[in-house]
Amino acid sequence: MSKKCVIGKCALCGRENIQLMQSHIIPKLVYSRIKTYQSSRFRNYFDFNQLYQDGEKKPMLCHECEQYFSKYEVEFTNKFLDKYLDLNNQSLPPQYDGIQNYIISVAWRIVYDDLFIYNSFTDTYMRTTYELLEKRLRKYLNQLRTDNVVVYTADAPDETNENQLKSFGKMILACEKAINYSTPESLENIETHIFTLKELGYSDELIKLFDAFILGYSFNSGDQKKYVVFSMYKGLVIATIFWNNKAIFIPSNIKELFKSMQRKNALKSSLKEEIDYTLEQIKKAYPKNQEILNSNNTREKLEERYKNAKRIR
Ligand SMILES: [Zn+2]
Repeated sequence: MSKKCVIGKCALCGRENIQLMQSHIIPKLVYSRIKTYQSSRFRNYFDFNQLYQDGEKKPMLCHECEQYFSKYEVEFTNKFLDKYLDLNNQSLPPQYDGIQNYIISVAWRIVYDDLFIYNSFTDTYMRTTYELLEKRLRKYLNQLRTDNVVVYTADAPDETNENQLKSFGKMILACEKAINYSTPESLENIETHIFTLKELGYSDELIKLFDAFILGYSFNSGDQKKYVVFSMYKGLVIATIFWNNKAIFIPSNIKELFKSMQRKNALKSSLKEEIDYTLEQIKKAYPKNQEILNSNNTREKLEERYKNAKRIR
């Protein structure tokens, strides 16, 4: 496989005319721990939107941003994933401080990829919310960094041309932009959670079926109140949820606890609904795809591809 050198704008720090690395959406380290993915390689395996299952690489981040993310990936693999795999995928090890940053870094890559590479949600009003979520996660991630990379953002307030009349809507937007630009991102109404498929109620048999897949995509509930980005592998479901409810407020500690339990259950049922849907797709596509996979021609091509993939790992 040739290593193409791509010059462009880094998706995270926003620097332009910079060499972009082939970034993995689901981190390479995670892939290297999960060897069963050889039967799960097509983003369009089920031929439905926003789904991908392989270690697809995109020219996305500059070298420094890759380095910055790899810190989170190493930490996640050492402090969580390896421990989980040692427990035979049955239960979750304790979560370490800072695991959230890893989860957010993956969620951001998934939303970015969905929005700007796959151009999902085009011409829908959901897109604006996904775009907002992408921006907020990006801002948060850039805020945390301690390297000396200068971050450029398109969200800086516009240089206002006084002579130009603006519509009221545009003025509001400009104000919001200026406020967002000047306040740090606190991840308000954004939560991260890790579940096991078992915890979500799936049988061992189904968990085994999912074992061959690595999934990661974003979806929202019909009422637009929940926007979820999740990835799933080895019986783990890692989710970032944005509660798109501007009126949410938290009155007291006890109520807060109660509310957070309710919210967690609501997230679990949304995830379950989505995973059930995916499962249906897998079941439907499976016989046909196995047939294609088993034909000699495809098998050879895939073996070749994986030989190459192993070489660069
Ligand atoms: Zn960068």
